[in-house]
Amino acid sequence: MTEYTEDYFTDIREGVRNICEQFPNTYWQKLDSKRAYPSEFVKALTDSGYLAVLIPEEFGGSGLGLAAATAILEEIHKSGGNAAACHAQMYTMGTILRHGSTKQKSKYLPKIASGELRLQAFGVTEPTSGSDTTRILTKAIREGDNYIINGQKIWTSRSEYSDLMLLLARTSPREEVTKRHNGISVFLIDLRDAIEGGLTIQPIPTMINHATTEVFFDDLRVPAENLVGTEGEGFRYILDGMNAERILIAAECVGDARWFIEKASSYARDRVVFGRPIGQNQGIQFPIARAYAATEAADLLVAKAAALFDSNKPCGAEANMAKMLASEASGQAADMCMQTHGGFGFAEEFDIERKFRETRLYQVAPISTNLILSYIAEHILDLPRSY
Ligand SMILES: Cc1cc2nc3c(=O)[nH]c(=O)nc-3n(C[C@H](O)[C@H](O)[C@H](O)COP(=O)(O)OP(=O)(O)OC[C@H]3O[C@@H](n4cnc5c(N)ncnc54)[C@H](O)[C@@H]3O)c2cc1C
Repeated sequence: MTEYTEDYFTDIREGVRNICEQFPNTYWQKLDSKRAYPSEFVKALTDSGYLAVLIPEEFGGSGLGLAAATAILEEIHKSGGNAAACHAQMYTMGTILRHGSTKQKSKYLPKIASGELRLQAFGVTEPTSGSDTTRILTKAIREGDNYIINGQKIWTSRSEYSDLMLLLARTSPREEVTKRHNGISVFLIDLRDAIEGGLTIQPIPTMINHATTEVFFDDLRVPAENLVGTEGEGFRYILDGMNAERILIAAECVGDARWFIEKASSYARDRVVFGRPIGQNQGIQFPIARAYAATEAADLLVAKAAALFDSNKPCGAEANMAKMLASEASGQAADMCMQTHGGFGFAEEFDIERKFRETRLYQVAPISTNLILSYIAEHILDLPRSY
């Protein structure tokens, strides 16, 4: 396993911090109040090359790997910002990199690395299937040199700010395959063409500024060459991509937690009530210390999961546990920070209520805590499958 130290990726962390300094809390507050997309921030990150660290050098990226990517995302969140507007540009391409044809790789990866093409929409979740991905109903039927796609996705984030979408659809009905995971395929959808030809995007207003949408497919015609890998094998292809996503989002949670802990400690040192700093009371300092310990523990698991991923070793358990523990640590830190600030925690100018809302998402998406606990019970502890 790669050795982990606090100073790991020092130069990258410093570079990311410099970018984030150009986007202070007032920038995020304004966008949040308007539910607007952080285009300037995304452009700055794209131009810096930080979104292309997972793309190998031969395709124009820096090929640094997932551990470097976790450092980037953690720093963004630790600065008070939010990488959700563009984090998928880093990892969604992984399915093409690992399972795409030579033609697909050379056609798309260099342009994704430069930012000319945005591939940051990932259409998996559907309204009726929920967490049970094998029950998705969106279907793609082969017709000559095309597939005809019909169905609906929900919570497809960033589809309005993406040129391409990675889509999961059934190419064989669930009843006709021997294993429920079979018969699912992955397609690369060019959203620029699709908007004219049978795809509709409907934004979903939410409690956070996340640019998430519903997407409807009505006889959308997609060239057969946009199928990624072999028809029917798609579920397997997206699993390693999902591990990357979980590890990276866990790193964002670690960043959020560190932001809350720093904010709370600083306030607790300065705020004087009853003639003493509130941080002198154990009732205030213990929750901060507890959040700190939980965050450090989660961070170690993030580092372990990233190191396993970068060494091409199985990392499903570690990726899931890292996401669960980090999202719980950031949730705990968020609650602690609100409580430490008393009434001021609710004031928008302090950013706590915004970050509180933002980090809460990660106990639900991209996979909710119960599903991770079920995975650990079934696959690691060899307990009977509960559902
Ligand atoms: C802001 C936002 C952005 C998102 N972005 C994307 C995206 O870009 N692409 C995408 O494909 N999806 C996206 N999602 C969807 C997200 O991945 C799902 O919301 C998440 O996986 C949970 O699925 P669900 O909402 O259908 O909940 P459900 O599956 O309906 O579950 C509801 C609750 O029941 C629990 N539950 C379900 N089954 C069991 C069981 N067997 N045992 C115990 N508990 C159970 C769950 O843990 C959960 O708490 C996003 C969601 C949100 C809110």
